Amino acid sequence: SFASTPTKQHQILVCVRKRPLNRRELNNFEPDVVSVPNRELLVVHEPRKQVNLTKFLEHHNFRFDYTFDDDCSNAQVHERTARPLVRHIFEGGMATCFAYGQTGSGKTHTMGGVFTGKQQNCRDGIYALAAGDVFEYLRHPKYARLGLTVSCSFFELYGTRVYDLLMPGKPQLRVLEDGKQKVQVVGLTEEPVANTDDVLKLLELGNSVRTSGQTSANSKSSRSHAVFQIVLRLPPLGQLHGKFSLIDLAGNERGADNSSSNRLTRLEGAEINKSLLALKECIRALGRQSAHLPFRGSKLTQVLRDSFIGGKKVRTCMIAMISPSLRSVEHTLNTLRYADRVKEL
Ligand code: ADP
Ligand code: MG
Repeated sequence: SFASTPTKQHQILVCVRKRPLNRRELNNFEPDVVSVPNRELLVVHEPRKQVNLTKFLEHHNFRFDYTFDDDCSNAQVHERTARPLVRHIFEGGMATCFAYGQTGSGKTHTMGGVFTGKQQNCRDGIYALAAGDVFEYLRHPKYARLGLTVSCSFFELYGTRVYDLLMPGKPQLRVLEDGKQKVQVVGLTEEPVANTDDVLKLLELGNSVRTSGQTSANSKSSRSHAVFQIVLRLPPLGQLHGKFSLIDLAGNERGADNSSSNRLTRLEGAEINKSLLALKECIRALGRQSAHLPFRGSKLTQVLRDSFIGGKKVRTCMIAMISPSLRSVEHTLNTLRYADRVKEL
C-alpha cells in the first residue's frame, strides 16, 4: 500500500505502471518477466542465451519516482500522479500528464477508464478522477473566492491532423501559429462544465467519436494521441488561470514500425516517432530549466506548447505503461529506457 508514502512534488514526475497478465497471456502460460520489489524500483528479468547456449536471466533494474505493481487500481495511480497536479493548476500553473507505452499496455485503461467487455467506464479513469478533484478544489474557500470557471476540450492528433472529439462528425481543425510562435487550434470546442457528470458526458461522447468507424478495437486509436484538457478561467474576461492536459499517447511501437508496406502507415509511424522524440526533448529541456524548448519538432509538442512555457509554473507527469509478458520484453525495455531519459537529474 502507498498509504505511508509521502507524495512527491517534483516538477517532472516519472512513474511506471505494470499491468497484470491478461487472460490470453495466462492461457498461453506466458511468463511474467517484470517484478516490482518496492514502490520505486522495477526489475525486468530478460531471458538470454550464452554462446554455449546455456540460458540465464539478465536483470535490468530501473528506479522511478513511483512504480505501480499489477495490483494497483486506477485510483491509486491517480492519487500519486495526476491528483497533485490539480492543486498546481488552481495555483495558476500549467500541468500535463502523459500515458506512454506500447499498444495494449494499459494507457487507455488508465486514462479513459476500465473496460468491462466493450463498455468503457469513464468514471474510474484519470480523466474523470482529475475532473472530480477539480470540482472539489473549486469549493475550497481559498479558491472559491476566485470565481473560476471550468471547461473541457478533447481532441485527437492523428499524424499531423487535429480532430475535435467533442463535435459530432469529428471535424478536422486547423493549427495556426502567429509570429510569436503562439499556437492555436482554431475552433476547438471548449465546453463549460459544472460537475463531474457533465465531464462524464463529454468523455463518453469523445470516446465514442474517437473509436467510431474502427474495425478492430485498437487499430486507429493506437496510432493517434488523445488530449483531454481541463481549463480554468478567471472572471470577468475569461483570462486563462490554469490548464491541465491529460494525454493518451499513440502506441510507442508504432513509431518504430517502418516496415509496413503501406506508405500512409509508414508516414504515420514517422510522425509518431517524431512526436515522442520531441516530447522527450521538451520534458528534458524543462528539467534542465533550459530557455530553449524544441516544440517545433512535432505537431504534438506544438499544440502543447503553452503547457511547457512558464518556467517554475510548469509541471509534468509521465506514466509509462508496461506489459509483464515475455513476448513484450523488448518493447518494455524500450519504454523503460525512454522513461528513464525523461527523469529529472
Ligand atoms: P493501450 O491503450 O495502451 O493500447 P489498453 O488500455 O487498451 O491499452 O489495455 C489493453 C487491455 O489490457 C485492455 O483489455 C485493458 O482492459 C487491459 N488492461 C490494461 N491495464 C490493465 C490493468 N491495470 N488491470 C487490468 N486490465 C488492464
Ligand atoms: Mg489505447
